[in-house]
Amino acid sequence: MSSIAVIGTGYVGLITGAGFADLGNDVVCVDILEEKIAKLRAGEMPFFEPGLEELTRRTADAGRLRFTTAYAEAIPAADFIFITVDTPPSGNGKADMSRVESASRSLAPHLRERTVIINKSTMPIGSGDFVSQIIREYAPPDADFAVVSNPEFLREGSAVRDVREPDRIVLGGDDPVAVEAVAELYETVNAPIVKTDLRTAEMIKYASNAMLATRISFINEIAAICEGFDADVRVVARGMGLDARIGPNFLEAGIGFGGSCFPKDVKALAFMAAEKHLHPQLLNSVLDINQDQRRRFTRKVLARLAEPGASTVGVWGLAFKQDTDDMRESPSVDIIRALLDSGVRVRAYDPVAMPAARALMPDVTYCDDPYDAVCGADALLLLTPWNEFRQANMERVREAMRHPVLLDGRNIYDRREIEALGFTYVGVGR
Ligand code: NAD
Repeated sequence: MSSIAVIGTGYVGLITGAGFADLGNDVVCVDILEEKIAKLRAGEMPFFEPGLEELTRRTADAGRLRFTTAYAEAIPAADFIFITVDTPPSGNGKADMSRVESASRSLAPHLRERTVIINKSTMPIGSGDFVSQIIREYAPPDADFAVVSNPEFLREGSAVRDVREPDRIVLGGDDPVAVEAVAELYETVNAPIVKTDLRTAEMIKYASNAMLATRISFINEIAAICEGFDADVRVVARGMGLDARIGPNFLEAGIGFGGSCFPKDVKALAFMAAEKHLHPQLLNSVLDINQDQRRRFTRKVLARLAEPGASTVGVWGLAFKQDTDDMRESPSVDIIRALLDSGVRVRAYDPVAMPAARALMPDVTYCDDPYDAVCGADALLLLTPWNEFRQANMERVREAMRHPVLLDGRNIYDRREIEALGFTYVGVGR
């Protein structure tokens, strides 16, 4: 079993740390946020992720998962150091590498013997060399280290399962011994391993997210065309997805993609292409369509309100997708802000994302349950497809509303059933 340090205890770091501790390794997670580390030591989760609390508690109780703010405590004994800090977008779309730089500087002076540093954060192509350079500059002269890229593909909401059962493991590096050592860490994980050079591994992550985002924007464009011709995009997607060459995933029309990864990574890839004097037409269109999708939905809502300034809408779901409290780049934020700007009052409910949403949108009335959110509403907007909303008592909803209009931003309801209950139903591309 190995000694592992994980730098950054966000979605990726905490789940990676707990996952490797679960495989029997000795893991220390490091973060610069004192408060976060104090809470983690007390068994409190910094965010909502199904199964994470149990996994963290179990591995911490077994003494295999510890938390610290001190690099000096975590790094000297580590055989492997995972860098999992955030790489947010800067103004022009370029990935902001300041946290990676700072983490590399902080860990370097504590390096002792042979250590493998693993870039797990999503980092621009060429970052393996960037991290190596910084570490070489700040490490003791006799420090022996190698950098391996091991991008993460977990999905928030199913992250614990995704790290246990990944579709594939990608390892990139110029030092074959280091790449092999990281491959051994994953020995008991049943997944194909793609071994390649640093830059190709980094590119695989960006290309994968760009592909998934492209499928979403593609089906959203098809949805807009369906609306023009009275076709139903849900059936179109099913008919397409049954083709083995196409497959069914990521063909759900709706209000577009959000979250901390797709928008940021597509922008970063477009920026990298532009740096090489290429014109990333497809990537730019994927982003444009995605922004349009939020505006189109907002226009549909406003078109249903006789007098927006005197209207109230109920919103179900705020997180960028179900089973997470992550509000980063959530389509709900653009939609709700635009409605508030038009004078619409917004009552909202989300099972877990309301604390995070409140900080971003203080002018919304946050409600205790879905029925409270629709009280006196002129329209109900379904923005995140939580199961709770699929199972809601829609008769009770209709009775609570002033006007029973349902704008289904995720196409989760059966139009006929909803209309039979007396609602006016508006979906996406249907
Ligand atoms: P996050 O914002 O949830 O967490 C990042 C953590 O790093 C924070 O706790 C922060 O305090 C800590 N940190 C920042 N600078 C630090 C430093 N110098 N030393 C120690 N800790 C530091 O981020 P995340 O969502 O976990 O994403 C991390 C990376 O993984 C990003 O590059 C992201 O693109 C990538 N990724 C994320 C997901 C996802 O679903 N969230 C999936 C795959 C890949």
